[in-house]
Amino acid sequence: MARVQFDHVYKRFNKTEVVHDISLDIQDKEFLVLVGPSGCGKSTCLRMVAGLEEPTEGDIYIGDRIVNGVDPKDRDIAMVFQNYALYPHMTVFDNMAFGLKLRHFPKADIKKRVEDTAATLGLENLLKRKPKELSGGQRQRVALGRAIVREAQVFLMDEPLSNLDAKLRVETRANIIKLHQNIQKTVIYVTHDQVEAMTMGDRIAVLNGGIIQQLGAPQELYDH
Ligand code: ADP
Ligand code: ADP
Repeated sequence: MARVQFDHVYKRFNKTEVVHDISLDIQDKEFLVLVGPSGCGKSTCLRMVAGLEEPTEGDIYIGDRIVNGVDPKDRDIAMVFQNYALYPHMTVFDNMAFGLKLRHFPKADIKKRVEDTAATLGLENLLKRKPKELSGGQRQRVALGRAIVREAQVFLMDEPLSNLDAKLRVETRANIIKLHQNIQKTVIYVTHDQVEAMTMGDRIAVLNGGIIQQLGAPQELYDH
């Protein structure tokens, strides 16, 4: 079970408050989109779930556990960033295996997980290649694979489509939706793009100036 909860969360950098009293209950397996203009606090919210920032006040739960102060690698999360940076000198296999090696998974287990994940994403014939020998779309699938291979319960995605051209954006958006349907994990997805929010989210939280202005399913937000 991987509910994610914000319980009266505040974040201040020095004296500047960028997140103000956010309470939000994200259900197990939900696809929740955090949308809003640049600088409204979306990334900061995501980074607090990841453990890359700590709340100034309030608690964050993953499952039944308060994770304040818990090291990022001990939270059951995987993160996908905007730039999809892969390690250029490593093969696709090694890129995908990296996080598992870091966590000392047994070698046979790593091989099986990487191969299964590669098959899910249509990468099974590319495992020996280096990133520079892949197309842009293939590279993105490797980056997604690197996140899902760990079988984390919660996926955190920060503008994962923002550096892509229009065609790849459409393709990758569809990939992410399909992936969510297949793996049935909780996703928190940050974007400033309202179309992305409306087409991808089970629910959308509209953030402005560090507060949640609206929260609901896409249809409910349209009706307002
Ligand atoms: P968004 O993701 O919505 O663009 P962010 O969460 O990245 O917004 O940033 C919200 C505000 O917090 C911005 O004004 C940003 O400059 C500020 N901010 C973010 N991280 C830091 C930091 N580490 N130190 C100081 N200010 C920060
Ligand atoms: P995003 O595009 O996701 O909003 P940014 O480019 O705003 O990210 O920020 C990149 C990094 O810089 C993040 O780690 C963020 O926390 C940090 N950051 C953002 N604004 C500030 C700031 N005013 N002072 C210090 N760090 C900041």
